[in-house]
This record gives sequence, C-alpha cells and structure tokens, in this order.
Amino acid sequence: MKSELEIFREYIRQRGLRRTPEREEILQQIFETHEHFDVDGLYLRLKQKGAKVSKASIYRALRLFLDCGLIREVDFSDGHWHYEYIYGHGPHCHLRCLSCGQIVEFEEPGLPLLQERLARQYGYRIADLQLEVKGYCSPCQAEQQDD
Ligand SMILES: [Zn+2]
Ligand SMILES: [Zn+2]
Repeated sequence: MKSELEIFREYIRQRGLRRTPEREEILQQIFETHEHFDVDGLYLRLKQKGAKVSKASIYRALRLFLDCGLIREVDFSDGHWHYEYIYGHGPHCHLRCLSCGQIVEFEEPGLPLLQERLARQYGYRIADLQLEVKGYCSPCQAEQQDD
C-alpha cells in the first residue's frame, strides 16, 4: 500500500501544483493519530511542534487532502467542520453523545450493501456514505438519573 505522502505527491504532480514542505508537514500531523480534528486543534498541534503555518494554509491544504480522498469531513452538528483521515482506515460510523460529546467509532457491515442498493436504484456513483447516531452514553445517562 502506498503511503499517504506518496498518494499526495502523485496528486500534486498530476495537478501541476507546487510541492511545499508545509503541506506535507500538515499531512503528517494528521496521520500521526487517528483523531477527529478541527482546524483550530490541528493548528495548535502544529504550533506546539514549532511549525510555521497559518490557519489559511491549513484550510487550503485540507481542501487538497479532501479532494484526493485522504481525509473526509465529518459533521458533528456543532457549527463547524471536523475532519478525519480515511486512507488506510476502514469505513466506519459514529456514535455521538449529545451530552459530553464523546465519539465512538463502529463498523456496520450492512452499509456497503445499502450503498450498492442506492447506487443501483438511483444510478448514483456513491462517493461517501456516513451514518451518525446520536444519543447519550452510559455515564451521561447515569448522571441524568441522579438529578
Ligand atoms: Zn456522554
Ligand atoms: Zn471517525
């Protein structure tokens, strides 16, 4: 399997874009941990490492990573976009606690079947299928009962 860096470099070459060490640094930071992240959090992590990046350049880099399929946007309905890397990480869904914000990842074997069915039924080429389930985690439920 190609590394995320190889994928990205190929993409840059195909598009005739300039290769910058800054973008590669951002990419490596993203692939260091499988965490859901937002621009502010990523910016902080890079700053702590002494990287000289601006938020604007992070936004621009993220658009490129999205476009070549290395990361995806996840909507946690809190008013801004979160991201996570998907390359080398199997498709998965999210359970999100509405009280504490905890995210649990799970795999749903039925989803590829649903995707196939939708593609057939509507003649779509499906690029992304996400399932997000919202609720309350056990500790939060226990807390609610205490009140
Ligand atoms: Zn909770
Ligand atoms: Zn995830």
